[in-house]
Amino acid sequence: MPRIAIIERKCTGCGDCAAVCPFSAIDMNEGKADINSGCRVCGICLKVCPQNAIIRLETRTKSVDKSLWRDILVFCEQSEGHLHPVSLELVGKARELAKVCGFKVNALLIGQGCEKPLENLRHYGLSDIHVFDDLELGYYRAEAYAACAEEVIKSLRPSVVLVGATALGRSLAPRLSTRFHTGLTADCTRLEMRVNSDLVQIRPAFGGNIMAQIVTPNTRPQFATVRYKVMDTPQREETASGRVVRHGLPKKVSDCKVRLTKRRHVEKTANISDAEILVVGGRGLKSENDLQYVKELARLLKGEYAVSRPLVEKGWETNARQIGLSGRTVRPKLIITCGVSGAIQFTACMNAADRIVAINSDPNAPIFSVAHVGIVGDLYRVLPQLIEELKEKREKDAV
Ligand SMILES: Cc1cc2nc3c(=O)[nH]c(=O)nc-3n(C[C@H](O)[C@H](O)[C@H](O)COP(=O)(O)OP(=O)(O)OC[C@H]3O[C@@H](n4cnc5c(N)ncnc54)[C@H](O)[C@@H]3O)c2cc1C
Repeated sequence: MPRIAIIERKCTGCGDCAAVCPFSAIDMNEGKADINSGCRVCGICLKVCPQNAIIRLETRTKSVDKSLWRDILVFCEQSEGHLHPVSLELVGKARELAKVCGFKVNALLIGQGCEKPLENLRHYGLSDIHVFDDLELGYYRAEAYAACAEEVIKSLRPSVVLVGATALGRSLAPRLSTRFHTGLTADCTRLEMRVNSDLVQIRPAFGGNIMAQIVTPNTRPQFATVRYKVMDTPQREETASGRVVRHGLPKKVSDCKVRLTKRRHVEKTANISDAEILVVGGRGLKSENDLQYVKELARLLKGEYAVSRPLVEKGWETNARQIGLSGRTVRPKLIITCGVSGAIQFTACMNAADRIVAINSDPNAPIFSVAHVGIVGDLYRVLPQLIEELKEKREKDAV
């Protein structure tokens, strides 16, 4: 990485450089210019220094010996004995990626009462499953979990570490990548493996306007967090396999400063990524009050409701219910879109649903190109009719 440096003996402290720096990255200390961490190496200061006291230093990045880093490690998140579904999605993807380089796939499980998730994991073709099962790990503490993961990563030297982009994963992965002085790509939506073991980490960037392909060519391991529901869940195998490697609690865990003093259960709020049935309202809805049709249909179908981005921008709903590149990715069994045009930023995050039903008055709306069933019509006629019919059916079923 290049950086800017000041030759102190040449600097007269004129302050010309500080005056032109667009990033306020030059401080004047005791009559000398001093580069601070805001420097973006734009080089404007070099051009204005009358003493030529500012230079750009080019440093060569040393590359690690990639052959010393092998296999893929998947952090399998569990909570109170339940494996988070993203863990299996990551295992499935890791197995695909591993084939490119002839790697093995290992898993890491941390917590208390891990027997059930461990037994489950043994049916997904993993080589080794590393387990830290201890009372001290019964609740998530970043320092403690990172200490366990660090120990395993140090001994296995995996080329890739995959972590779910959950609240826990988003806290753990950056802690680990910093400890290993290596790269982390957050919130990946696609992963590809090159034969030289470089992982191509693909994710939306610049607010979803481009799909960035990010590689970590010089360091290992390559850390990536992956969004929930963007990868396929692999088929469960009949027979259990995989070696279970049990670890004792690392010493560092007892040094953790965070202690649990009180625990309070917070009511779980609806997560549209978990919903099997979704009814989605788009800008075709004329008023906030009209969202009631969408909510009512979702209720009758025992599903959840969601929205497109314009409705969040209008303040009708929170971002937690927004589908799309700047919202959530969903993969329900059934999704019914009402007055949604089908922009790429929306469809990219819902087109893997098993059944897509689209209601739109415009027969040329792009949503119809991803829909399995298209209803060309006014949502203000179609929705009340659907709701009425479902209610009637319910009443009949109740008799
Ligand atoms: C960087 C970036 C990120 C973005 N991220 C997201 C994102 O995460 N999620 C997202 O949703 N969008 C996102 N967008 C915006 C996206 O490009 C679209 O503008 C948005 O999805 C459009 O929402 P919509 O389909 O509800 O509205 P519109 O495109 O306005 O479509 C409304 C549709 O309703 C139909 N309609 C109107 N009246 C009726 C009626 N009475 N009955 C039936 N149909 C009717 C119309 O024919 C039309 O097709 C992003 C854009 C950018 C640039």
